[in-house]
Amino acid sequence: MDCLFCKISSGQLPSKVVLQDDEMFAFEDINPQAPVHVLVVPKRHVGGLNDAGDRTLLGRLLETAARVAKKKGIAESGYRVVANSGREGGQTVFHLHVHVLGGRQMTWPPG
Ligand code: AMP
Ligand code: ZN
Repeated sequence: MDCLFCKISSGQLPSKVVLQDDEMFAFEDINPQAPVHVLVVPKRHVGGLNDAGDRTLLGRLLETAARVAKKKGIAESGYRVVANSGREGGQTVFHLHVHVLGGRQMTWPPG
């Protein structure tokens, strides 16, 4: 499948890996919006939240986001986990992912 995040999570395309296991892959965002900006994706292709009926996978995705925060040293200071979904949600890559953002004060609403 011609999918950017499938290629990155399978190692076909390079990335700065933060952590991975048999199911999940976390890597640095190429255009960081905060001092810490990591993307977490399932290695298996899922288009987005609308296609993710798998509760176990979604749970592991969030658990991995929390592990990333810990590894990057922002678990205690705080961080934001974002899943842009669909066109108006701001999704540009249609492989399910969450952003882990931190290392600065986040503002609300996100805009
Ligand atoms: P979204 O807009 O939620 O779909 O997020 C897509 C994210 O992927 C953006 O924050 C981009 O900066 C990021 N991105 C796009 N291409 C790459 C890449 N080759 N390596 C790392 N991050 C990327
Ligand atoms: Zn994919």
